[in-house]
Amino acid sequence: MVKIFIDPGHGGTDTGATGYGLREKDLTLSISKRIQTILLNEYNGVQVRMSRTGDQTVSLSERTNAANAWNADFLLSVHINASGGTGFESYIYIGNYPSRAATNEKRNIIHDEVVKATGFIDRGKKEADFHMVRESNMQGVLTENGFIDNAHDANLLSQTSFLDKIARGHTNGLAKALKLKKNHSEQVSITSSSNGKTNDNDDEKYKVNKTLDGYVTAADAKAEVNKKTTVKKGEYYVFNRSQGMINVTKEKGTPGSWINPKNNSGVKTPSTFLIRVKTAELWYYNKPDWNAREGKAKKGDVFTVVDTLTVNGSKMYELKSGTYITANPEYVEKV
Ligand SMILES: [Zn+2]
Repeated sequence: MVKIFIDPGHGGTDTGATGYGLREKDLTLSISKRIQTILLNEYNGVQVRMSRTGDQTVSLSERTNAANAWNADFLLSVHINASGGTGFESYIYIGNYPSRAATNEKRNIIHDEVVKATGFIDRGKKEADFHMVRESNMQGVLTENGFIDNAHDANLLSQTSFLDKIARGHTNGLAKALKLKKNHSEQVSITSSSNGKTNDNDDEKYKVNKTLDGYVTAADAKAEVNKKTTVKKGEYYVFNRSQGMINVTKEKGTPGSWINPKNNSGVKTPSTFLIRVKTAELWYYNKPDWNAREGKAKKGDVFTVVDTLTVNGSKMYELKSGTYITANPEYVEKV
């Protein structure tokens, strides 16, 4: 498992640099989240932790302390430049230290991939005494992605498609430098059509009624294993469908998470009904599990049903009392 710590520069009361209506803290968070999503969606054996996931104020020491405490393998600090210039530059810690050559090698790979993906003017591979690369125990790089107060760069930075390119450059570089393994099934689904989209109708919407587990592949979603993300309640675009599973995304045309639509039932129906036991004796259960026998109901007993579930292919009623009973009409009848 490769642990990558991503640090979206600035945040909260510290806006970072500003220009053309843009704030560095927003751009660094957006780029960092895109990097996180691509890494988790498209690569195996990688863990990502972020120094912040929202607009919080986090001190520099808190950031490096978090990376060090987590024992990250690599640190990436994402920034936007300002004050005269255009293009991209990257930094490692200045001076002599044991991992200097190895750090520089990885930085060079990441740097070149970002320049390649973005078309940014290459301002060079640099060294500086920055807190983030000095106080972090692991190898790391700080990137300065364009100038927020330069009209040309700011115009690019205002486009989400360009933030995707920056993220893509970083992930390509991280994957190469840290030898990450591509998640094969995801690769297949993304390359299976020429434009990278697998849903012909990319305006198709899907409503998620409650928080669901998100997965990297349709097969994982179907088997409900290797949960990677959480998909919150809300409206999504459908990026892809496969094996009865749905890939939902907030950003049209880009892959999101796979969910299992069978878990997306609406809010429980408030309407209840009554059933009566038809047989002499009938097991009831303390949880939705045919092995969890709790006791026996008798012929003529009446219960209030609050929900109907399918357990191992057979229908089960959830009762108001919190217990469960078969829904088989041979044994119970609606009153
Ligand atoms: Zn900055």
